[in-house]
Amino acid sequence: MLRRLCKISASKFTARAIGVCDATSRPAIQECAEDFSSLQGVCAPGVDAGADAGLYTLHRARRVGFARAGNARVRRPIKCFICDTPARAFVKCTAGHGGFYCCERCTVKGETVNRKRVYVNSDCPLRSDQSFLDQTQREHHTGISPLTRILNFLPVKFFILDYMHILCLGVIKKLLLFYWVGRPKKKVGISISSNAVQTLSERLPSLKRFLPVEFPRKTRGFLELAKFKATEFRFILLYCGPIILDGILPKQLFKHFLLLHCASRILCSPSLCVPYAEYAKKLYRHFFDLLPKYYGTDSAEINMHNLIHISDVINFKCTLDNLSGFPYENQLGQMKKKTSLSCQASGTILQKNE
Ligand SMILES: [Zn+2]
Repeated sequence: MLRRLCKISASKFTARAIGVCDATSRPAIQECAEDFSSLQGVCAPGVDAGADAGLYTLHRARRVGFARAGNARVRRPIKCFICDTPARAFVKCTAGHGGFYCCERCTVKGETVNRKRVYVNSDCPLRSDQSFLDQTQREHHTGISPLTRILNFLPVKFFILDYMHILCLGVIKKLLLFYWVGRPKKKVGISISSNAVQTLSERLPSLKRFLPVEFPRKTRGFLELAKFKATEFRFILLYCGPIILDGILPKQLFKHFLLLHCASRILCSPSLCVPYAEYAKKLYRHFFDLLPKYYGTDSAEINMHNLIHISDVINFKCTLDNLSGFPYENQLGQMKKKTSLSCQASGTILQKNE
């Protein structure tokens, strides 16, 4: 089942479904664009459903704003798109995850190391909205995205590098599962004894009784690490990581992790994110530049590389949390509870979201 959600920012509304469909395979990009025609339930009345209905709806939505089902109109321009990496590549018609020229923010060319695509260079020229529209680096593009025909559409700026996918489900999960607790740690010279791993597993659940109610998902042992949700990796990144990893990771690796922790705390703080954005950016870059030294030359995969660009969200003068995939993940969970994933589910979900 494919789902597309929207959220009206600075409002009481939670994320809402604007498109849900049953499919056994990914649709063509044109069909995907038409999916936005499902906005007819939430878009201004009178929007024509002609050719390119989805684009027209989006185009109109930018100018007119969304309207909820019924007559209560809420004027809001489209602020940005928040997707995971494969979805961004799909709707932007760009090289996919692992492509040589897949970085959405700079023109770095990937290299193949140990059968992995890595993006080591952190100083390549940046992409601009105009260079994207002009397809200056032809290899980055697989076609012309229908979204580029939307008035004033900014194909680079409008697509957020979402920290839920990149940092929580990407970087932190990889570090924990692949390097610190997982099997290949010895291959890259990381020395964490099995006793230390056991201690680490016990530390996380032991924090449970100290957690305030604001943390909805309680901690689990590392035996269930592969099943951890994004919010659990976020908890490790932003809150308990420095506590549970202290004395477990070798000193240099621990300090290396603190670079990531500090940068993320800054960008998640409403009072720090704007004045210290440049400092956070330097911390992320320093973390990235040290990766090959600590985790091997094949560690600079695209999620790690995107760390040097993730602070771009500050262009919107907000924290990482303000523009992240978390509200949509929560909404997806609720949608799944409302209905089983059957062929009739799409309409049911949309009706219940109206
Ligand atoms: Zn890049």
